[in-house]
Amino acid sequence: MAAKKEPTKKIPVSEKTAAASAASAKAFRKSAGNPDTKTPRQTVTRMPEVNRTIKPVPLSKLPKFPISGNPDNRRNFNAVWEILRQLYPMPDVELDFETPWEVLAATILSAQCTDRQVNTVTKVLFKKYKTIEDYANADPAEFGKDIYSTGFYNSKTKHIIGSANMILADYNGAVPDTMEELTKLPGVGRKTANIVLSRGFGINDGIAVDTHVKRLANKIGFTEQEDPEKIERDLMKLAKREEYDDLSLTLIFHGRRVCDAKKPKCEVCPIQDMCPSAFM
Ligand code: SF4
Repeated sequence: MAAKKEPTKKIPVSEKTAAASAASAKAFRKSAGNPDTKTPRQTVTRMPEVNRTIKPVPLSKLPKFPISGNPDNRRNFNAVWEILRQLYPMPDVELDFETPWEVLAATILSAQCTDRQVNTVTKVLFKKYKTIEDYANADPAEFGKDIYSTGFYNSKTKHIIGSANMILADYNGAVPDTMEELTKLPGVGRKTANIVLSRGFGINDGIAVDTHVKRLANKIGFTEQEDPEKIERDLMKLAKREEYDDLSLTLIFHGRRVCDAKKPKCEVCPIQDMCPSAFM
């Protein structure tokens, strides 16, 4: 007797759609340069399908910001965030480091320099200078040569050696873990302090606002401010505390891979229907 044939299992349409969306988002992340691995930026060529559960307020119905008169898109924060976090799941910082001091030094070096170049420099630097004392006692001229290729080497040298000395003198050689103390170190503002706190200590105290975060927060309509501290305050009202670091990194990745300052790729941007600056 012939064996009874197993009925073919039908996959519900919703599951098929979800699988297609996942595959498409995966392809997008690959084409965008996977943020979990430190791959170089690549050209994004296609728009992914993403899962949407939040219905956005149509752009035509958005209120205006009081000062600039630009569309105020804060009501759509959750709808936009839902999409962006699918594109860059578990975003990870692209700088290489192992200790809070190395995060601090690498972040100071990253001003006006690519993360890739900083990683090239710190690969050698972190082997040459091992302890805070090594940095505090470094010869400024030699140290300047060591970090020359990151640019602005004179001020970066002063800030790194100065920070090492202050950490030794005032904090017993341990990098402090509060915003107040970190921002007393030479060359350390809120952006650097936020990065050290989140990535060095796992503390979400604020949102690091760099040039990408500033540009995207304005373009997408989450703020009308130009000052990074005011932008940070606006974003902190929208995001959950535990998502502060992810939000900063996600906006940075989207700024690097899709929403380029000169040539934003709105045609492949999955939030184009919710972005007041799309195709402008
Ligand atoms: S739609 Fe265009 S301007 Fe808006 S976030 Fe996307 S790439 Fe940037």
